[in-house]
Amino acid sequence: MSPLLALSLLLLAIPIAWFVRRRRARASAPRLPDGWRARLDARVPQAALVPAALRERYEARVEAFVARKRFIGCNGLVVDDDMRLTVAGLAALLLLRDDATLFPAVRSVLLYPAAFLVRHEEPDELGLVDDEPVEQIGESWQGDRVILSWEDVEAALAGDAVNVVIHEFAHQLDDENPWSEGAPPMADYTQWSQVMQREYERLQRHRRPPVLDPYGAESPGEFFGVVSEAFFQRPVELRRHHAELYALLARYYRLDPAAAPPLWPAA
Ligand SMILES: [Zn+2]
Repeated sequence: MSPLLALSLLLLAIPIAWFVRRRRARASAPRLPDGWRARLDARVPQAALVPAALRERYEARVEAFVARKRFIGCNGLVVDDDMRLTVAGLAALLLLRDDATLFPAVRSVLLYPAAFLVRHEEPDELGLVDDEPVEQIGESWQGDRVILSWEDVEAALAGDAVNVVIHEFAHQLDDENPWSEGAPPMADYTQWSQVMQREYERLQRHRRPPVLDPYGAESPGEFFGVVSEAFFQRPVELRRHHAELYALLARYYRLDPAAAPPLWPAA
């Protein structure tokens, strides 16, 4: 082959390869439809908690979440743009820190229509395997996925005290720091461990806690999930009964939901 022919073939190949790559990138990354910012505000009341100064960052993280995470409908559920936007809009509320990363371990979000049955095969502390299926509304796997009940995602939008998206993605933040349970990565743990430890022990002692779900007393990891839910779903009550804990979470999440107008009419 003459050098000139080889060069012209090479020049032709470059744009073709570039075009194919662009086409592939577009086909594999779902994009949000026009008008998604207004839909986000209409669908996700909690989006109103993001201050104007952080709105651009918030929107960029919602968009990146939808583009990079794979959504899978289970038990016949068809996942649409609104569902993707809603889950991304709630999960990205946890990512307003300067150094936040986009839940790097999570590759897929599995959505079930409602609570789902799970059979766990890991042996318990006595070495016994319980093969009775357990009903769950969400799960966070150390590894690659978060599983959610869509019915319970919608309940959180309507003001339920439980917010399964916040809870499961808080577990993901926690897992980003493999050396401790109940603490996401941060530069200085001094204050975090003091406040969280004190409040965790307080919940373990409390027979009828006024704000926090008693399930949070199961482990430091569940405690972080439960207090994060209360921070978004019951912020005024959390601040009233657990002022230090509220302030700690407000600093970490860069939000002050108790100072914002209430998202739902008082229960
Ligand atoms: Zn949990």
